[in-house]
Amino acid sequence: MSPHRSLSASAPAADMPRRDLRGDVSAQRLLNSLRQASSNCRECPLGERATQTVFGEGAPRAPLMLVGEQPGDREDLEGHPFVGPAGTLLGRALKQLDWPREALYVTNAVKHFKYELRGPRRMHKTPAQREAAACLHWLESEIEAVQPQAIVALGAVAARSLLGRPVPVLRERGHWLPRSDDIPVLVTLHPAALLRGDRAHFEEAFEAWLVDLGRATRYLREKQAGLVARAARAGRSA
Ligand code: SF4
Repeated sequence: MSPHRSLSASAPAADMPRRDLRGDVSAQRLLNSLRQASSNCRECPLGERATQTVFGEGAPRAPLMLVGEQPGDREDLEGHPFVGPAGTLLGRALKQLDWPREALYVTNAVKHFKYELRGPRRMHKTPAQREAAACLHWLESEIEAVQPQAIVALGAVAARSLLGRPVPVLRERGHWLPRSDDIPVLVTLHPAALLRGDRAHFEEAFEAWLVDLGRATRYLREKQAGLVARAARAGRSA
């Protein structure tokens, strides 16, 4: 499926941004070389303990990038982002939003799994700020290569890395916050936070999360509509 396609399969293709093929190819090459280089990274202690680097994946010039915290146990073993329980929940949300995953770029703020052992189990441990800071250049390089029109920050670690300051996620969820490169960041919860929450209110929390995420669809549609209107005005005045 073409990475140029609309995020929403039901929306007309003209609704969404298009990129030139040469741009896609060079972005893909750049991402490939970044992935290769990051596989040997030992710039913080996490690289020594994890199985492998889990680099971002998806359309090389996706209009929308989703950024999580770090790979979990399953991601660490399989080498792909968002393939564990949180990824399954994210997949459910993407389906409901009609966002084909292959049209997005999905990554994490930290590329190696941080964990502590409890018996034989490797339990997730939140990366320290110094670890997220050490890993930031990989994330920024991905953003530079993909040049998304908008980014969704899933959770506090992603929001802090993307915005360069602590972000109170519960207060800011559903809001767009600006980055210095002008790419807007939509802040919301990490899917793992929903899985850890009160089971009795899970569906309610999931619906609220969908509302947050759905703002990205609206933003991209409005942006594209603005671009089309500008191009039409320019055409008329030519
Ligand atoms: S977590 Fe990031 S900075 Fe630390 S070793 Fe892995 S890739 Fe390098």
